Amino acid sequence: MTANKKFQSILKQIKKMRDDRDWMQFHNPKDLAEAISIEAAELLEHFLWKTPKESENYAKNKKNLREISDELADIFNYAFELADNLGIDIEKTILKKLKNIEKKYPVSKSRGKAIKYNKL
Ligand SMILES: [Mg+2]
Repeated sequence: MTANKKFQSILKQIKKMRDDRDWMQFHNPKDLAEAISIEAAELLEHFLWKTPKESENYAKNKKNLREISDELADIFNYAFELADNLGIDIEKTILKKLKNIEKKYPVSKSRGKAIKYNKL
């Protein structure tokens, strides 16, 4: 199965889960965007008050990693559904964004630096 077919199959399952429960009525753009943000906050909660090193060690624990993975799946599911509902081609938009990042952050100026593009 190609990557695109796998992705289409995942998207189909996300929509089936939603439609089997008649949840489309709640999945307007505002609520889906809020849900993405809330799930991202749940992801952040795992790392709150930890140092970068502590957060790395925390994520090495199997139970913690499973919970982190669940939050990422929540984010992906809502994000993929929102994009699909809005008619956004997910592959195209990701590739376009990567090109923009490459332009804003040329390797020659940005390699090894965590500095915003307008300060490079
Ligand atoms: Mg969650």
